Amino acid sequence: MARGRIRLVREHLDGSLDLSATMRNYLDLCLGCRACVVSCPPQVPTDRIVRAARAKYAVQQGQPLVRHVLLRNVLNKPERFSLALDSVKLVRTVRLNHLFPKTLKAKEDLLPELPEQTFWEMLKGRKLKKSAKKTGFFLSCMDNNVFPQVVMQAIKVLEKLDFEVVIPTGIVCCGAAHHNYGDLDNARRLARQNIRAFASADVKVILTDCASCESTMQSYGELFEGEKEEGEAQNFASRVMDINVFLQDKIVSGSQPVDAIATYHDPCHAVRYQNIKEEPRKVAAAGGEPPPLTLR
Ligand code: SF4
Repeated sequence: MARGRIRLVREHLDGSLDLSATMRNYLDLCLGCRACVVSCPPQVPTDRIVRAARAKYAVQQGQPLVRHVLLRNVLNKPERFSLALDSVKLVRTVRLNHLFPKTLKAKEDLLPELPEQTFWEMLKGRKLKKSAKKTGFFLSCMDNNVFPQVVMQAIKVLEKLDFEVVIPTGIVCCGAAHHNYGDLDNARRLARQNIRAFASADVKVILTDCASCESTMQSYGELFEGEKEEGEAQNFASRVMDINVFLQDKIVSGSQPVDAIATYHDPCHAVRYQNIKEEPRKVAAAGGEPPPLTLR
């Protein structure tokens, strides 16, 4: 499949094949999971080739309407993303979500139960700990709107380890969807906003708990390749780190075992983009025998 996609891209780029709707659909279906890249002996970067082709046809033909609206009018403004999820909550409350068009309903089905408050709302009135040891934290759109409790727990762990957690209010979407679907102008605009938001934060490391955001931000240098901001973007990218990688050698024994077994799914953007596999398991098992939490 990957070889087929690469061939389509090559023939399109050398002018021997026009971009048809079917071909575009094949390229759009690539998830960028890199399963083909890691099993390919010379590691041909299918994900990058597909992204480059998408960027080219996005310029030539624009984006399909729904994606255009999502990229330009929802994901690029944090408050609009929150508003969109508030609407989903409302529609679910009045049980009208079954009236969504089929493709929208399929996407809505992927969303878990939505929390009452966003992360920023939960943070009101809570003071973050001050410490000489500081670490940045990138709050993803999903963190803020869907999993705020996870971030609260991450802060708790970091504060217990005596870190001050800095989450600048100016951060926006990492730009993963824009980057993946070839809306590079907007991907760069969002990247600039995030780089600017952390510029005055005085942190050496920017932690995240979202593997897709991590790998996107780690590619900010690639996004600005050949431009005057490339050095600054590379510097930012080099400071982005998965929270499990950061914690793996910091959590020490003494934790209370949890009477639970959890399942863990290796995110493609952790295991295949960043080679992160053992670190989450080490963090879950830290604290001696029996491990505080067993992952399956
Ligand atoms: S990156 Fe994943 S979805 Fe895309 S061609 Fe490779 S295996 Fe298929």
